[in-house]
Amino acid sequence: MFHKILIANRGEIALRVQRACRELGIKTVAIYSEADAHAKYVKLADESVCIGPPMSIDSYLNIPAIISAAEVTNVEAIHPGYGFLSENADFAERVQQSGFVFIGPNADTIRLMGDKVSAKREMIDSKVPVVPGSEGVLPEDDRAIIQTATAVGYPVLVKAAGGGGGRGMRVVFSEDDLLSAVAMTKHEAELAFGNGNLYLEKYLANPRHIEIQVLSDSYQNSIYFGDRDCSMQRRHQKILEEASAPMIPPASKKKIGEKCVEACRKMGYLGVGTFEFLYENEEFYFIEMNTRLQVEHPVTEMITGYDLVKHQIKVAAGEKIELLQKDINYNGHAIECRINAENPKTFRPCPGKVTEWHMPGGPGVRVDSHVYNNYFVPPYYDSMIAKIIAHGKDRQEACGRMRIALSEMVVEGIETNLELHKDLLNDENFLKGGTSIHYLEEKLENKKNN
Ligand code: ADP
Repeated sequence: MFHKILIANRGEIALRVQRACRELGIKTVAIYSEADAHAKYVKLADESVCIGPPMSIDSYLNIPAIISAAEVTNVEAIHPGYGFLSENADFAERVQQSGFVFIGPNADTIRLMGDKVSAKREMIDSKVPVVPGSEGVLPEDDRAIIQTATAVGYPVLVKAAGGGGGRGMRVVFSEDDLLSAVAMTKHEAELAFGNGNLYLEKYLANPRHIEIQVLSDSYQNSIYFGDRDCSMQRRHQKILEEASAPMIPPASKKKIGEKCVEACRKMGYLGVGTFEFLYENEEFYFIEMNTRLQVEHPVTEMITGYDLVKHQIKVAAGEKIELLQKDINYNGHAIECRINAENPKTFRPCPGKVTEWHMPGGPGVRVDSHVYNNYFVPPYYDSMIAKIIAHGKDRQEACGRMRIALSEMVVEGIETNLELHKDLLNDENFLKGGTSIHYLEEKLENKKNN
């Protein structure tokens, strides 16, 4: 096992990874930007290194600064968390070339799955069902683009091969809008992802977002830890997740879980990962794979009882997975609410000083957050400030516990989306379960018009 790990991230996930390291008896090095100098996880780490000014590009995305920090603190491995450099194949490569272990899959796998076109091709080869769409990258020629869209059938979704974070996609309902949408998406993709390659997918009308959590070691062992429903989204960004996904036959879950595990074996996957699917008319359609730990991993931990971060670190250190698929059992139901510092109406980030901070507790409630009284939420990074997770013997109990947790929570000084979560936890359709990826947007739209 490693003796010392550098955590190349910030916020709640830096703290989460640190906790796993402590349980494993691993010393931690926190890196921080000047804006995070007073953060809790920086104080709690065994060592810490300032890697630059507040802007991410100068700090959390600054590869040479991070590698130097690893060198001066003499760590053995680097945990990338999520976001920032976690799915950057060049970073993974540099980490390895500098003599450290990258806690995640190897650079080639990240590259393969990071390009959504090659990822889809890999899935087709592994017999994982994908969303129907263009074969490979969209051609340059206008006539060929029109032909491709006609073959897929409208409405189509124009997507960037290098896209991520819900950006780089555009729905097109008819041929009239196709070429301009392609041009705009291409331009945006070149700017945002440095990759102008596009592809087309059938735009599914009413799907749910269902994902499968996997873990693989370097001995061809792969298992899955069940599924999550992340359909509650705004602008393709998840805001509430749950496990297990309600109202999907266990036999179909098993079938798709086994396919994911097979695909992992085929590509020599290492570490934790998530296969994301759209689920419509009782069919799964792969959209992408995340080759890292996800924000919503706690709901899986709550229902399986396994610590995914500890397992992730162990397999990176070359340990074998001791678990068998039959050891993974699901106990009850868990829900996660992402609490963001944002204006409840405009959803604009709302950084600033937190003047009152009281977190909920009680049976089945877990809070993953780095925030404390008088903490200053910096304006430079993602606006998520806490994850509230509620676990119960069934979905109803989990929802009840979440309602109590949200009612206990006090955040003052900044605006948050707490009210939105309270509203959702009382929403008749959400409580029934199985709402689609469009549900939240439609709900917000209706509210605006009333
Ligand atoms: P990102 O990498 O930006 O998260 P994804 O491909 O995972 O992009 O898609 C994000 C979200 O966009 C999905 O969860 C879903 O809500 C929506 N989406 C993606 N592909 C489709 C599709 N073919 N039809 C309908 N919605 C889609």
